[in-house]
Amino acid sequence: MNNNREEQKLEKSINGDGNGKRLLFFPLPLQGHITPILQLADILYSKGFSIIIIHTKFNSPNPSNHPNFTFKPINDNLSEAETSELSVFDLAYLINVKCLAPFRDCLTELFSDFSDVRRPFAALISDPVLHFTRDVAKSFDLPRFVLRTSGVGAFWGFTAIPLLQEQGYLPIEDSRLEDPVMELPPLRIKDLPVINALDPPKFYHLVAAFIEEAKTSSGVIFNSFEELESSAISTLRQQFPAPIFPIGPFHQYHPSNSSSLLKPDESSISWLDKQEPKSVVYVSFGSIAAIKEKEFLEIALGLANSKCPFLWVIRPGSVHGLEWLEALPNGFLDSLNGRGHIVKWAPQLEVLAHSSVGAFWTHNGWNSTLESICEGVPMICMPCFTDQMVNTRYVTYVWKVGIELENGLERENIARAIRRLMVEEEGEEIRKRALDLKEKAKFTSKRGGASYKSLESLISCLSPS
Ligand code: UDP
Repeated sequence: MNNNREEQKLEKSINGDGNGKRLLFFPLPLQGHITPILQLADILYSKGFSIIIIHTKFNSPNPSNHPNFTFKPINDNLSEAETSELSVFDLAYLINVKCLAPFRDCLTELFSDFSDVRRPFAALISDPVLHFTRDVAKSFDLPRFVLRTSGVGAFWGFTAIPLLQEQGYLPIEDSRLEDPVMELPPLRIKDLPVINALDPPKFYHLVAAFIEEAKTSSGVIFNSFEELESSAISTLRQQFPAPIFPIGPFHQYHPSNSSSLLKPDESSISWLDKQEPKSVVYVSFGSIAAIKEKEFLEIALGLANSKCPFLWVIRPGSVHGLEWLEALPNGFLDSLNGRGHIVKWAPQLEVLAHSSVGAFWTHNGWNSTLESICEGVPMICMPCFTDQMVNTRYVTYVWKVGIELENGLERENIARAIRRLMVEEEGEEIRKRALDLKEKAKFTSKRGGASYKSLESLISCLSPS
């Protein structure tokens, strides 16, 4: 039934008015990559393009949430064990191996559906981490753009990794964590976008491959904006061979359909409705980061000791060795008299926009960082890996709209950080700056704003002459 509907949509796209304005998208199947690519597809759909989403079966988006798009699943050949047990980095590596042939077959089929059209697709917009797409797209003479789902500053950090290896910054030595990286201001060694990989050369290889994928593309699209990252954007524009299109924040153009892989718990909102304005700390570490049981307990006790109300997202399986909450002290939530609410997944955009939320304790994934900026919510930063460290540096040192959790994940430090932001004068200053930045974010995607102009130039590059 569903397949039939997808076929009908494809047929309409073949015969309909979208000639030459069809776009193919191919996301990396992770929440933080799927959401922005579908938002970008929404934006371009509203500009008259018809949209075909090629996707893996693993973490498949839900087609019924996007009735205007055509979905083409490919057989990723990933086993249950691989998708549940591999690190995100090893998984990305494997997807690059296993999806090459199915992706090529999918393009062959799509091109044969349109065999009577000279240029059936305006372009492919893929995630550069899927670096195998370059050669495949080239073999079909298909123009290829990439959507890099990190910030521009973080991307610039990734491009510098080979140089940083040469100059001895990498691998990171603990004794030099605070040293500035002269080549990448304002980053210190501890802010570099690396991961604690078991096999560092494999990680560096993946980074080099995705940078090359971006360099050789017809353009790199970012969910960021000039007013936020002007210095990183102008550096990249001067030194990177491909055109740069910072057109974010994507979700501000118009409300997008949900691309959540997990079901958001709506009790988050009814619970927030009962709280005082700006009183709640929202706590979420995104869709991938995981913590140890000891850290989980310190977070629980730190939140309790802060005396502030909190809404805490704990994804099942995100605490090593636990199903969900079984390690919480008996009666933990009851002892707080309604001051805490825990959910498995929250409607984060709505939560951040809620008047009761006063701070966001985040891992600084790029989407979370940007979503917080757009709502003017100050952040407590606890980066876990790669670009999150760069984002934390920008949040705390450049934009000054948050503070870093210092001295380790321990209850006293947690309670102290929360009170600094929620109760003390320092927090007031940070909140004011966060509200200023929110205004800039609001304006950029409106007619005349920098992102709007960049979107217009992207559209003219995508449109057939
Ligand atoms: N998110 C959500 N509900 C949650 C936690 C996260 O909807 O309970 C969304 C969040 O709004 C963001 C995405 O998941 O768009 C996480 O992306 P991010 O880049 O912040 O982090 P990642 O998951 O990639 O580490």
